[in-house]
Amino acid sequence: MTETSPVRATKPRQVRPATEGWSQKKDAEGRPLLQFASPKRGKPPVHLADLTPEQRVEKVKELGLPGFRAKQLEKHYFTHWTHDPAEMTDLPAEGREEFVHGMLPPLLTEVRRLETDRGDTIKFLWKLHDGALVESVLMRYPGRITLCVSSQAGCGMNCPFCATGQAGLTRNMSAAEIIEQIVRANRLIADGGLGGKKKDDQSAERVSNIVFMGMGEPLANYARVMQAVRVMTDKQHGLGMSARGITVSTVGLVPAITKLANEGIPVTFALSLHAPDDRLRDELIPVNSRWKVDEALDAARDYFDKTGRRVSIEYALIKDMNDHAWRADLLAEKLNARGRGWVHVNPIPLNPTPGSIWTASEVPVQNEFVRRLNDAGIPTTLRDTRGKEIDGACGQLVATEDDQAVAAATPLEV
Ligand code: SF4
Repeated sequence: MTETSPVRATKPRQVRPATEGWSQKKDAEGRPLLQFASPKRGKPPVHLADLTPEQRVEKVKELGLPGFRAKQLEKHYFTHWTHDPAEMTDLPAEGREEFVHGMLPPLLTEVRRLETDRGDTIKFLWKLHDGALVESVLMRYPGRITLCVSSQAGCGMNCPFCATGQAGLTRNMSAAEIIEQIVRANRLIADGGLGGKKKDDQSAERVSNIVFMGMGEPLANYARVMQAVRVMTDKQHGLGMSARGITVSTVGLVPAITKLANEGIPVTFALSLHAPDDRLRDELIPVNSRWKVDEALDAARDYFDKTGRRVSIEYALIKDMNDHAWRADLLAEKLNARGRGWVHVNPIPLNPTPGSIWTASEVPVQNEFVRRLNDAGIPTTLRDTRGKEIDGACGQLVATEDDQAVAAATPLEV
């Protein structure tokens, strides 16, 4: 009789989230600090894009001109993407500069521009009126142009993998500071500054898609983000973009997701989940200590019920941390428990970072993760990670020391 050795089940390796090279700020109970309120700082000047159409007319009258001038200014700013009084020859020459400056005060000073992918991806570093730094990334794809915008300077959500979260929340951005990122990008495109257009590409030469995946947690700056979305989608008094092309993403601020679902604006909604189990997600996404995975998924399903818009689940695949087959199965189970056809999953492969715990899953592991979800009936596609080469992918936007030095030496636009 031969003795068979017992088959030893190999336990999957579990890497736990931890910061590298910096320490996470903690609260009195030793939990990662969450900052929801914006620190009090000097507010940016009020701008046309911060106001409703009625308020714009009022402001124009306050500046001593008839109300219909508001409409002319809207056209210059939202259709021709200009704030240069010299181009606004339909406005009276006398007092034009002061008037335009009063309605369209300068908000963003360009500090740096980095191009990659042969010029069809551009990262901008902007300085705000108070010196805070934010970034946006412009990307050309076949048939569309996407801008990844920032909604806060810094971020208060303190995710241990995120460069932006390290420094905490500097302040909320105004609606106009969000819109100005689009207007500046549109202007650059119109001037031929974005490369990569294919000969047969008939699409309009302006930003067609917005993703709120730059700096900040958009739903923590709810009112201003919503004002910005209204301006983006307003066909008469704004940029006239399609709501479907606008993606609002969140790490899971449940009450704000519910509010968003009730707005009646069918934007695309994305939940950055990154783990289907609370044990891991509590560490990976600190806001999970407030709203658990199931609560966030219930709110996401409710978003689908109210808007009819299919929800995206974002899932960064991190080697041996959240990429296990059992996690793909658990995710599929939790999504299927809430019905069929309401959701799709976008796993996002990280960049390989040798020596770091925050590194890319092996390709066969990625493929297995995707296969299991698809087999369970959940449409799943690995997402493009364009922009990573210039540190412009979601959760990676942060001004380096060098950026800060250049910013300090760049005078504000006046
Ligand atoms: S990953 Fe997103 S929510 Fe988390 S700290 Fe970074 S910017 Fe904020």
